[in-house]
Amino acid sequence: MAPLNRFLCGAAVAGLIAGTGSVVGAQAGLSALSADWLLAAEHVLLIGTDGTNLDKILEYAYNDDSGFKTLMDRGVTAATSVIGHQAMSTPEWTTILTGVWDDKHGVVSNLYRPEPYTAWPSVFNLIEYYKSEVDTTVVSPVGLFTELGAIGGYPVDNIIGITGGSNFAEVDALVTDATVAKILATMDNPDISTFMFSYQSQVDNAGHTFGGGSQEYAQGVINVGANLQQIMTAVAQAEAATGDRWTIIAVTDHGHMQTPTLPGFSFGHGFQSPNETSSFVMFSLAGNEAQAGGQSLGYSLVDITPTILQAFGIPMRSDFDGAPMQTDPALLNSVVMPVDLKQGLTDAINSYGYPNIGTEIMLSLRSLAGGVGYVIQNYLVGPVDNYLQTLIDQDIFGISLLAEGAQWVVRTVGGAVVDVTDQLGRAIGYLTGAGVIEPMDAPLPLPGSAEFSIPDFHASDLPLALDVDALVG
Ligand SMILES: [Zn+2]
Repeated sequence: MAPLNRFLCGAAVAGLIAGTGSVVGAQAGLSALSADWLLAAEHVLLIGTDGTNLDKILEYAYNDDSGFKTLMDRGVTAATSVIGHQAMSTPEWTTILTGVWDDKHGVVSNLYRPEPYTAWPSVFNLIEYYKSEVDTTVVSPVGLFTELGAIGGYPVDNIIGITGGSNFAEVDALVTDATVAKILATMDNPDISTFMFSYQSQVDNAGHTFGGGSQEYAQGVINVGANLQQIMTAVAQAEAATGDRWTIIAVTDHGHMQTPTLPGFSFGHGFQSPNETSSFVMFSLAGNEAQAGGQSLGYSLVDITPTILQAFGIPMRSDFDGAPMQTDPALLNSVVMPVDLKQGLTDAINSYGYPNIGTEIMLSLRSLAGGVGYVIQNYLVGPVDNYLQTLIDQDIFGISLLAEGAQWVVRTVGGAVVDVTDQLGRAIGYLTGAGVIEPMDAPLPLPGSAEFSIPDFHASDLPLALDVDALVG
């Protein structure tokens, strides 16, 4: 937990409340009204569900058992598209979590590298740099998001990396349990602002194995809807207990083909067909009942990071591609109130087509080149290495020794091949326009470095001296 958060805990909070002359006692003794004006914590929850087509949500999970519908009824929904950008996970999650498209961040492959997030800091780093008192959390299977949360000099406070689960549905259930627990735990410290990112993966994995048109994919959408319902119920419980309202955003990074190109292998997405570039944003701004059940014709994945920063009063980068959904005039004007939301969204989904042929070829080339290193790593080097390890583990005279030698060769040569293909993929990415635009803003200074500057705590009325020592130490 960040130093300021520690300061705000327990007795210190009681002291702040006592100082105003309010009734002091159990937290439940505070009325919702006094909790609002006195402490006014911001709570922002970002739910990511990978590779989830909105038309499948409308078909299978637009009912009262589904948290998708609960969220859509409470907020504004947009059928969005990543047309003209790579419909691939890490490139699009990077777009969502940095507020800029791939022509700036330059991520073209699912092979994780930390470098792009120095020039283009993630929302995690931006919150922790400007407002370290916000309690930040990532709940995800160990991988991209637990890495992203940990890097950059301003890591998130709580990285809950989920391991275990014998299939992707079980993994998502574990993520949901941890997310619900963390939401309910905020009731113990209702004055502390929170940001949480929670990630579900089973829909995308069903799409890769069985296709977006499969019964397995539909079941994944239903399952994630049920998980989201549990999360929405926990938020409602926290809101009722504290009087604070939560801002909730749900988003996907891309869609899926009805049938994968190579079933059971990969390439269920990555190209430019409308099913693959299909995406969505669901946005429920704390306290905004006026637009409940609305539809936006203007939201986009790049708006997510600016919106989260705006909620905490953090300044925008000068070169964001997106804008805050709650204050940007064009985005506010993009919201309509359809008589039939499902029909309105279906019409929007059907309005998207293919990009021009040049863009389509360029992005397909980029996805193929960017994907080669990842495929070699995950489908060739990894499995062969694992197989050799089982031979080594059996300790069979002669065979195990041979396997050990073979494993050395696979690791050395395989690693080199992955490195070369990854670099080639990035070179092709650059030639096709990824990462060609330089940032206008300087990278965040590293803590303790000479150019370190004191974060601006804006309207905070707490003395800065309280946590500066801890921050720079
Ligand atoms: Zn994905």
